[in-house]
Amino acid sequence: MKISTHLVSAPLHTPFVTALRTATHADSLLVEISDGELSGWGEAPQVWKVTGESLAGAQACVAGPIAAALDGIGPDDLTEALRRVQNAAVGNFGAKGAVDVALHDLAARRRGQTLHGFLGSTVDTVPTDVTLSAGDADALAAAARDRVADGFDVLKVKVGTGDAAADVARVRRIREAVGPGPRLRLDANQGWTRRGAVNAIRALEDCDLELVEQPVPADDLEGMAWVTDRVSTPILADESVYGVRDLVAVIRHGAADMVNVKLAKCGGLGPARTLLELAREHGIRSIVGSMMEGPVGVGAAAALVSAYPTSAVNDLDAAWWLKESPVVGGIRYDGALIHLPAAPGLGVTGLTV
Ligand SMILES: [Mg+2]
Repeated sequence: MKISTHLVSAPLHTPFVTALRTATHADSLLVEISDGELSGWGEAPQVWKVTGESLAGAQACVAGPIAAALDGIGPDDLTEALRRVQNAAVGNFGAKGAVDVALHDLAARRRGQTLHGFLGSTVDTVPTDVTLSAGDADALAAAARDRVADGFDVLKVKVGTGDAAADVARVRRIREAVGPGPRLRLDANQGWTRRGAVNAIRALEDCDLELVEQPVPADDLEGMAWVTDRVSTPILADESVYGVRDLVAVIRHGAADMVNVKLAKCGGLGPARTLLELAREHGIRSIVGSMMEGPVGVGAAAALVSAYPTSAVNDLDAAWWLKESPVVGGIRYDGALIHLPAAPGLGVTGLTV
């Protein structure tokens, strides 16, 4: 097998604004694994602010220890290849996830199957939420109405960027703008204190929140358990859970009701399946999310959830924001529905540039 990497930068149709930055492009590293005839694809996103991983680091990890670990192994020895990828380096979940997906994609193509079919799915569409770009209350209310008009009925709002009282006012304004129909979920990205979280969530109980994601810092599992015990809104662990050991710790602490599984946090489809099974066995509800990824990374996550259903609508809107795709083929959005490709693997046949 030949492993190569491609750095791509895809423009967004609408700038994606968070408290930390304004993104106009999605930059990522695409991994291509060829058997000499067919290619499998995977994607590692740039995630300085969550995992601390960069495209340069992912590229070095793929070209270095992962390529060395796969040396001499054949494309049909999938289980052994996946094991070697996970053991090739500490951390580097983005790089491992990209190679894990590319190996799955190649294996599916070699059998003439779609990736989701290869994983066991019998459905071809999965719904997603959409995240509202940050802004003041007026801008958020307008964006919320626009996204509902685009066909989305689950809206994710970023909070936790400063004043919890201002967060409450913004969310209230969004609920007024869209009415009672659409589901609202919040993501505090570790930005609240435990007391601030309880106060804000209780103050929003009449807004019918679906869930609140990562209210307190990732390593404060006691704080998150404290919050989870004091509110009726479900609490979703995101930055607190990368791999299986983290989910075990969340379960032991009773820290959350739900977990957000992402390929770039856990290292690919293999570890993600384990996380989803573990969560189900312990009564932890789940969603699958993504980083700022394109049709390759989001397509793999969508294939996963089509075969391993989660408990709530998944957070897979990242590729919706792209004005131009860096690849030919792959998933397609129709409002909130992601259509999985009918072509083999991820349905991706090459780069557009
Ligand atoms: Mg999150």
